[in-house]
Amino acid sequence: MNIVLLGAPGSGKGTQASLISEKYSLPHISTGDMFRENIREKTPLGVLAKTYIDKGQLCPDDVTEKMVAERLSRADCKNGFLLDGFPRTIAQAQALEEIAAVDVVLDIDVPLGKLLKRLTGRRCCEKCGESFHVDSIGNATQCPKCGGKLYVRADDNEETVQSRLDVYVKQTESLVEYYKNKGVLRRVDGDKAVEEVFAEVEKVLKNL
Ligand code: ADP
Ligand code: ZN
Repeated sequence: MNIVLLGAPGSGKGTQASLISEKYSLPHISTGDMFRENIREKTPLGVLAKTYIDKGQLCPDDVTEKMVAERLSRADCKNGFLLDGFPRTIAQAQALEEIAAVDVVLDIDVPLGKLLKRLTGRRCCEKCGESFHVDSIGNATQCPKCGGKLYVRADDNEETVQSRLDVYVKQTESLVEYYKNKGVLRRVDGDKAVEEVFAEVEKVLKNL
């Protein structure tokens, strides 16, 4: 099964993606994680991506599409994949269609007004990649799941978060309509506890 996860920054896409990937044994392909890995390793792609990500803008379609195409061509994607953070523009969605058919698009829906707080209070684990909110972990410095060190993502400051949300409304939200018209969109209420959201995801996938 080929799944696309849609949702604003902070909607909980990444968290749901980990759960889905584990339960359905699908490779979790996060373009954000791929860019961050390139930034850490200071590859040419990473150096370029950083100039956009630091400003809360999208990386150019061509480099993003090339990176995803390469990833989807690997053997582990033969029996399906889970895309998290791609596509983010109509052009990217069209590029994806050239590579693979999308079976279902899960739109994790959270009211925009709640996202700013979710993102600025986010802490990520260096080791396992999981993210948590200060509301539930307080000022812990270690990951509750694996004990790894927690950090604040460079683009989770208030100013960058605001432009990421603007970019979502301007460039990504139109994908909801796009996939609705193709008949593959399923809406999931993301304004609930992680386990409740995942239960709804499971229900949707079961009823496909
Ligand atoms: P979030 O969804 O929480 O904002 P991600 O980790 O998915 O964060 O992405 C972080 C940043 O990486 C984005 O703000 C953007 O700059 C870049 N990025 C990720 N995916 C894409 C994409 N498909 N196209 C262009 N840029 C992307
Ligand atoms: Zn961890």
